[in-house]
Amino acid sequence: MEKYLNQLNDAQLESTIQIDGPMIVIAGAGSGKTRVLTYRIAFMMSKGIDPFNILALTFTNKAAREMKERIATIVGDSEAKNLWMGTFHSVFARILRSEADKLGYPSNFTIYDTQDSDRLIASIIKEMSLDKDIYKYKQVRSRISSYKNSLITVRAYYQNPELIEADTMARRPRMGDIYKEYVERCFKAGAMDFDDLLLKTNELLTRFPEVLAKYQNRFKYILVDEYQDTNHSQYLIVRALSDKFQNICVVGDDAQSIYAFRGANINNILNFQKDYDDVKVFRLEQNYRSTKNIVNAANSIIDKNQTKLDKIVWTANDEGEKIKVNRSLTDGDEGRYVASTIFETKMNNQLKNSDFAILYRTNAQSRAIEDALRKRDIKYRIYGGLSFYQRKEIKDILSYLRLVINPADEEALKRVINFPPRGIGQTTVDKLIVSANGYNRTIFEVMKNIEKTNVKVNSGTKTKLQNFVTLIESYQVLNQTADVFELAEHITRTSGLIREFNKDGTPEGVTRMENIEELLNGMKDFVEGQKEIADTTGNLAEFLEDVALATDLDADKSDVDHVALMTIHLAKGLEFPYVFIVGLEEDLFPSAMSMNTRSELEEERRLFYVALTRAEKQAYLTYALSRYRWGKLIDSEPSRFIEEIDEQYLDIVTPIEERRFNPMLDADIFGDVEDSKINPNKIRFKPAKKAMLKKGGTKKPQEKFRVTTPKNLKPVVNTNSNTNLFDSKLVVGNIVKHIRFGTGEVIKIEGKGADIKAEINFQHGGVKKLLLRFAKLEVV
Ligand code: ATP
Ligand code: MG
Repeated sequence: MEKYLNQLNDAQLESTIQIDGPMIVIAGAGSGKTRVLTYRIAFMMSKGIDPFNILALTFTNKAAREMKERIATIVGDSEAKNLWMGTFHSVFARILRSEADKLGYPSNFTIYDTQDSDRLIASIIKEMSLDKDIYKYKQVRSRISSYKNSLITVRAYYQNPELIEADTMARRPRMGDIYKEYVERCFKAGAMDFDDLLLKTNELLTRFPEVLAKYQNRFKYILVDEYQDTNHSQYLIVRALSDKFQNICVVGDDAQSIYAFRGANINNILNFQKDYDDVKVFRLEQNYRSTKNIVNAANSIIDKNQTKLDKIVWTANDEGEKIKVNRSLTDGDEGRYVASTIFETKMNNQLKNSDFAILYRTNAQSRAIEDALRKRDIKYRIYGGLSFYQRKEIKDILSYLRLVINPADEEALKRVINFPPRGIGQTTVDKLIVSANGYNRTIFEVMKNIEKTNVKVNSGTKTKLQNFVTLIESYQVLNQTADVFELAEHITRTSGLIREFNKDGTPEGVTRMENIEELLNGMKDFVEGQKEIADTTGNLAEFLEDVALATDLDADKSDVDHVALMTIHLAKGLEFPYVFIVGLEEDLFPSAMSMNTRSELEEERRLFYVALTRAEKQAYLTYALSRYRWGKLIDSEPSRFIEEIDEQYLDIVTPIEERRFNPMLDADIFGDVEDSKINPNKIRFKPAKKAMLKKGGTKKPQEKFRVTTPKNLKPVVNTNSNTNLFDSKLVVGNIVKHIRFGTGEVIKIEGKGADIKAEINFQHGGVKKLLLRFAKLEVV
């Protein structure tokens, strides 16, 4: 038997060598599902199956890359290269490109990212003169996205109004018209958005039986990781492609289905056995990732869900440390606890930053954590923000490139037609859009034939428009001979972009230049790399496709050792030795928006299960008794999820008093040791039931924060240090500045000597009580 197969337990081995027919591996977190998938592909290849006939669908491109690397170490590089592996989006974008003409698209079609879609939808709402408070473009985009993922086309929208939610019909009667216009504009621009990549694939496979047959014959073996989070559109694609040979292997964990809000359908995994005949079902029960304490705690949590498949998860790993539960007074304290714990654990155990991950429910929570990590000088990286390719300067260059291969691309054109500024104003652009819509032509075509059109602009503007057309056309000529790198380099110089970014000499300008350099380096890599890969030509269209589908997780090239910060949703499938799950508070996690129904709450609980099962050695759960949300300090209660864990696995550390008076850790340079609203007596667990009852009501503290600038701010004294304030020259009514909270007014002074505190009403932080001994304040 092949040696690598020794690295599998019996159950894993059985599912690895089961090649033919439909099969499903349903198993809990960390039990080796992804490993089985990986080894299975290696095994198939060692049995002589052509990698050309294997299609593996993963949840992220990064996961695909790592699996491919692993397979390459087993079967060899050259073999692994021919595997089709990647996310649904990237694999089917490739297929659509070669079949685009059938759907009336150019093979160079652009992929609109979310930003492009948002801009187009906002523009349509404006053109239609709709109320942008009722038609919020992000909400409209997310509705359109869910229609597409449910295969509700524009026609279906109009013909089957019963498919559309009643409140959309009532509140946004023009939704269908926006949808229609959006679809038409994308089509005219030769652009597909992310959802189109799945929708159009479905269209392709249903409308063209010969195309379906071709890909059925090609992909004789199909494997899907994280099957529990496939949406309807993805489900149909997999079904169609696997229909002929039925060699379909899916792996997943119903307890980790966490993307319902984006259309994932847990029934896909629950019903798999009904979809195919003679499905072989495998269960893996041994967890290799985590300690006993973590595995058992996670089991005790997921047990509370009613909708689930019964599963056993156990581990032979060490007992490990108990899960540490820490409460803090504020989100700031929570951040400091996390940072100091990382600092100490790292020192005591000789660890790297990358051994730690901090997971949160919402992106907004990262700020307080970041502040604390920075103060400790701990390097971190936030995942899931803007991808590198979505940064302004990068998108600007990419927009030129997009125009080169697809001048119909409306969003790219609007972005750079006047950037760098070349005297083409918004009014002119609006006229071009109206005219293009009227003629049913693209904006670029209208510009090119400006003399023959009805667009009323003066001759100076006409010349500017023609110059722009000529510029893009000159790039198109160059593209016939130059590679991606050479072309981009030429564009940055000749379009005036470099001059524009260099102009101001500000730190932002410098960063932009560095990013551009990084982009060019990446292109060089791409050009070199593509030479080695079969099946690709390294052309501009392929580069842009990679870029459009790249996520923040993929672009992780930096070799800086950093702590990972990300939402739990993003952490799926990953593992880290030390994991902090922060913000475990009612209304935050579980989220206030997910408590209306049992199924919503169960999804939150699955999310918590996912978070906890990322940890290998040690998990930390933290919560704060008050936190800034919507610009206000809000009282919070510990999450019911903490309570739901069997207590024997928990170590409840409550070092609040110690920490509050430990000058090293807490009363640091900011001195914000106390918040006036906090009553330490309140610190206690509440029975989950009670909390639940309490939440039954309609607690809605989302009052929006407004920045009000105090009038007549006049400098009184200008001290550069805080020393004077210690003797308290400060009086009620002084306007002071704090490096974190900004400007505020002193409303009360109390205490004596070293204990003098001031109560200050900050513009950005509300009322804070600060110890003057520590607070860095400046009277303005
Ligand atoms: P998740 O549900 O979180 O996606 P999973 O079921 O996909 O988890 P894997 O990521 O494949 O689990 O495996 C978890 C960890 O256990 C990995 O580090 C993997 O290398 C290791 N592992 C899996 N099986 C074995 C084994 N038989 N021997 C040693 N280590 C294993
Ligand atoms: Mg996995």
